[in-house]
Amino acid sequence: MTNILVTGGAGYIGSHACKALKAAGYTPVTYDNLSTGWEQAVRYGPFEQGHLTDRDRLDQIFAAYQPEAILHFAALSQVGESMREPGLYWHNNVAGSLCLFQAAVQAGCLNVVFSSTCATYGDQDNVVLNETSPRHPINAYGASKRAIEDILRDFEAAYGLRHVIFRYFNVAGADPEAEVGEFHQPETHLIPLILDAIDGRRNALTIFGTDYDTPDGTCIRDYVHVMDLVDAHILGLKWVEDGKQSRVFNLGTGTGFSVREVIDRAEAITGKKAPVVEGLRRPGDCTKLVSGSTRAVTELGWSPERSTLDQMIGDAWRWHQTGHYDK
Ligand code: UDP
Repeated sequence: MTNILVTGGAGYIGSHACKALKAAGYTPVTYDNLSTGWEQAVRYGPFEQGHLTDRDRLDQIFAAYQPEAILHFAALSQVGESMREPGLYWHNNVAGSLCLFQAAVQAGCLNVVFSSTCATYGDQDNVVLNETSPRHPINAYGASKRAIEDILRDFEAAYGLRHVIFRYFNVAGADPEAEVGEFHQPETHLIPLILDAIDGRRNALTIFGTDYDTPDGTCIRDYVHVMDLVDAHILGLKWVEDGKQSRVFNLGTGTGFSVREVIDRAEAITGKKAPVVEGLRRPGDCTKLVSGSTRAVTELGWSPERSTLDQMIGDAWRWHQTGHYDK
């Protein structure tokens, strides 16, 4: 079977991608330093522990597995942390990706599917965010991902590194079979935090800002089901395997929900009240991030059928009640 190197395969999105890869007939080889991921989430192929910045280790992995392509998920991904400690983001995300791509080129592995983010666009109120929108990130996380996109562009020109870049909007939900799910420690993402507040694992959810210029004053995001998101990666993998031109795709549904709307749906789906307190804005947060493009649907044939708020929260709730990982 064809080996695919999955950096960050022990993390939330990477572990779901490994499940989808295996179902599509590939062998996912997870490369992860377990800084935020979980060995127990590696269920669908071999696991190799290592850092993105460890060139010797990467050379060994490429030699041992001869992967046909890389799905590059491994990254630090918290907006708030990136504002407090930008150096971590430039080192781990940018220097780490550079090291990975250099090792890939040397090994002759010239197909990459890269997890980028809508945070590369920054705050562009009332502007449709499509793949040709200017990139003006307002936090170090988004800036680090923009820099990696630029490395890919230059490496394609110089070395023929074919790539698909996915700019994710907000990923949510879990494997409906609850084999893998979202489990961060500490948790910073909205939906699992609401579920924690609902079932008493935390005292309350703090809403980060109620004075934004939106109908209810809270930030608006475009949520995508993690299973739909990883389906797009399989299509992206086929895209680069077929030798098609490198391309950027937004992965969002085009529909935005405010923080308050997500809380309301979570309460309706679980039948329980979420204790909430209103807090200050979180530095680095954009007012509204909604995808304005259907390029992934029209060109890749992607159909994000599971990305309704109800299914995302329902699947997250099922996982939340049954699944977790331990160190
Ligand atoms: N959010 C919030 N309280 C929290 C965590 C998140 O109000 O405890 C808000 C956050 O300000 C943003 C939205 O929920 O508007 C989604 O945040 P998350 O961290 O899940 O994803 P991000 O948009 O940062 O990628």
